[in-house]
Amino acid sequence: MKEFKHFINGEFCISENYFDKLCPTDSNVIGRVYEGLEQEVDHAVNAAEAALAGPWGKMSLDSRVALLNSIADEITRRFDDFVTAEMADTGQPRSTMEHAFIPRAAANFRIFADVVKNVPSESFMTDTPDGAGALNYAIRKPKGVIGVVCPWNAPLLLMTWKVAPALACGNTVVVKPSEETPATAALLGEVMQTVGLPAGVYNVVHGGGENSAGAFLTAHQKVDAITFTGETGTGTAIMKAAANGMRDVSFELGGKNAGLVFADCDFDKAVDSFVRSAFLNCGQVCLGTERIYVERPLFEKFVAALAIRAEQLKAGDPEDPTTTLGPLISQGHREKVLSYYKKAIAEGANLVTGGGVPEMPEALANGAWVQPTIWTGLPETASVVQEEIFGPCCHIAPFDTEAEAVALANASDYGLSTTIWTSDLSCAHRVAAQIEVGITWVNSWFLRDLRTPFGGSKQSGIGREGGVHSLEFYTETRNICIKL
Ligand code: NAD
Repeated sequence: MKEFKHFINGEFCISENYFDKLCPTDSNVIGRVYEGLEQEVDHAVNAAEAALAGPWGKMSLDSRVALLNSIADEITRRFDDFVTAEMADTGQPRSTMEHAFIPRAAANFRIFADVVKNVPSESFMTDTPDGAGALNYAIRKPKGVIGVVCPWNAPLLLMTWKVAPALACGNTVVVKPSEETPATAALLGEVMQTVGLPAGVYNVVHGGGENSAGAFLTAHQKVDAITFTGETGTGTAIMKAAANGMRDVSFELGGKNAGLVFADCDFDKAVDSFVRSAFLNCGQVCLGTERIYVERPLFEKFVAALAIRAEQLKAGDPEDPTTTLGPLISQGHREKVLSYYKKAIAEGANLVTGGGVPEMPEALANGAWVQPTIWTGLPETASVVQEEIFGPCCHIAPFDTEAEAVALANASDYGLSTTIWTSDLSCAHRVAAQIEVGITWVNSWFLRDLRTPFGGSKQSGIGREGGVHSLEFYTETRNICIKL
């Protein structure tokens, strides 16, 4: 059986407590995860703090950039190991891992190696009464020890999206991966050993949230800043912990994202895209579209087309190349999703397709499978329309005017992303500018340029990461004023 160990001060180590990691496809135990508590977190944070004063802290920018590129190369060299590890943890099809999630990890290290090398800081010439003037310029300093708390839905992608800029800026990190997906964070420890990252720069402590590694890490007073991706409720708890000691936070939180489909859109491309945005990763994508609004003349045709495509998705073994749908992450999450499936019917939804659990072959019968599900007919106040479900499901409703579409998209406490489908460029610009979200896609979805700001509005997040915006969070900008 596999053992998922902590990675602290350059070495793998175990702790007294542990728990089982179950495979989501069949609920079999695939490994033992060691649980870090106060002692392991303290050990890791102290190692991270000490590393700031060691060779890492004195390393030239060129050497740091070279190391980041070596990390990317080594992830690429061990691509299959990462794909296999993440497939076992999440149960998602090999194609999702190979094409979407694992390549992004290497890309994250490359982009931030470039950004940190090429983005200038600012300077101003300042007039003074004596006429001699002053020169003001800014320098960036690493913030210090960064606590990185991660979710399970795209574990390596989301973790490296934080670790790469943190290291690029010269910080050290203590990562707390999700208890559901320990594998790739540990594997990245092997990569760090191979490329010769100094001990203590990258640390991993496994465990849970409350009363476990997550809470101990975010409460630790030697952690200088916290970057977190996960549920909005967890973000609230972490923000309270961060208030103690006045530590900075960057939060990427939940979403209840709208898709707007105008009648003049390229219909086939729109349907293709919504199959992905509603069902990719079994609907466990923060940017996914659980609310779709379609201009009335296209409504019936769109619902019918998306239902056919949902029914064509094939749940199965992630290694089977014909599999297009994986399971949910755990039985616990399946209970939550199925409770929403029930609630939708109780609230009066018209069930277009799905709504239950698919029949699976015996070997997979105990997995966390659910059917892709589409509803129509619910009022906007329904919990299924308002609350994040994080499963392969969506509610589709008609709209009549552009103003109504904007109002519907904005009628949410969340504000992460929107996707708009139209061939009217003016409409696209007009609508996009009015949507209260961090990112709006027009005629696309999940198309990411890593130099752009990424984050959520309203309850979907605090701060922006990506390109220069990551430098804003992972460094402290200091002003130096020279009187001439
Ligand atoms: P979660 O909030 O349950 O857990 C995330 C992490 O926080 C885990 O590592 C967990 O152990 C830890 N944690 C839990 N309680 C904690 C506490 N009190 N103190 C410190 N750490 C704690 O989220 P999840 O279920 O793993 O992930 C799904 C959620 O993540 C969804 O809401 C999804 O929308 C969101 N998400 C957002 C983005 C984004 O970019 N905005 C990306 C991916 C996922």
